[in-house]
Amino acid sequence: MPHHLDTLAIHAGQEPDPTTGAIMTPIYQTSTYVQAAPAEHKGYEYSRTDNPTRTALQECVAAIEGGKFGLAFASGLAAIDTIMRLFSPGDHIIVGDDVYGGTFRLFEKVLARYGLTFSWVDLTDLDAVKAAFTPATRLLWLETPTNPMLRLADIAALAALAPERVLVAVDNTFCSPAIQQPLLLGADIVMHSSTKYLGGHSDVVGGVVALNDPDIYARLKFLQNAIGAVPGPMDCFLTLRGIKTLGVRIERHSSNATAVARMLEDHPAVRQVIYPGLDSHPQYALAQRQMRLPGGMLSVVLDTAEQAHRLVTRTKLFALAESLGGVESLIEHPYSMTHASTADSDIAVPPQLVRLSVGIEHVDDLIDDLRTALAD
Ligand SMILES: *Cc1c(COP(=O)(O)O)cnc(C)c1O
Repeated sequence: MPHHLDTLAIHAGQEPDPTTGAIMTPIYQTSTYVQAAPAEHKGYEYSRTDNPTRTALQECVAAIEGGKFGLAFASGLAAIDTIMRLFSPGDHIIVGDDVYGGTFRLFEKVLARYGLTFSWVDLTDLDAVKAAFTPATRLLWLETPTNPMLRLADIAALAALAPERVLVAVDNTFCSPAIQQPLLLGADIVMHSSTKYLGGHSDVVGGVVALNDPDIYARLKFLQNAIGAVPGPMDCFLTLRGIKTLGVRIERHSSNATAVARMLEDHPAVRQVIYPGLDSHPQYALAQRQMRLPGGMLSVVLDTAEQAHRLVTRTKLFALAESLGGVESLIEHPYSMTHASTADSDIAVPPQLVRLSVGIEHVDDLIDDLRTALAD
């Protein structure tokens, strides 16, 4: 029987070191490798091209996403940028209209200058997606749940709907494979900001990609080396170490976030709670079908922008910070922080919205912190 994710997270790509028996993957802090004769080496020539600590991470990521191949990058955006170099001027890309602010910035403010064109589409509307395909479309890019509106895209339905020549890529950062494995639902490429749940401890920035197609893998591997946005061995080690506890962390993130969401939904100062684990979520049925657990991210809509500002500055345990997915709880105001670059665009977020990344502290302490911050 193939191993489960919790087992793969700890063992895949991570054999004990053959020379010393070290059970943890060594941090191969080296830039180059001695060759026996010109071009006669042990598979490693130069660490931009390959590094053993990175190889271990790449194999582990491929395994936990149910893919054949993995690639690691210096950041999530470096991973996205490298994927986008598969395309050429004139190519058209369909993107969910509610994506990570940095993805929007990379696409519209950087890559559009190189001749890629983007259509921003509501991915909950399958007819709208169908209508957006043109003969030039090469990629459908999606996030689910989205950030910070937590809208869901039906990965299997979208993958089935995309024409053969269109790649489907899923940014799985908000879920991690402990919740959903897009490759198993028909996606061609899955990517993560491993800065978030995979790393899980807010101590490393990174990005990863997993996929099954050997040709696309060969092109991405070429690009990884040609562009050079690679992570260092220490960062790979930290990410690997984080991944080992992914399964148990996601369970606790999900149970804590569910309890926090229920408390907030009943709170008189809160207008709306958006969380895939609540049956008030407009796509609750899809969440139940697609996600093994509801995850640690939730958004709250208050009555006014002032109240949103007040909440994010009054919590004590929930730290006011960008990012997400770490063991510690974070709170932020997307309108003025993570999503400031989308202001005045079609995908701007409401100023009354607050986003929580619920950590794995004791749930009673988290609830107490939010109740106190919301009190008059
Ligand atoms: C953080 C994030 C990114 C970007 O990743 P970095 O590691 O910050 O470069 C991309 N997508 C999502 C959904 C993210 O949350």
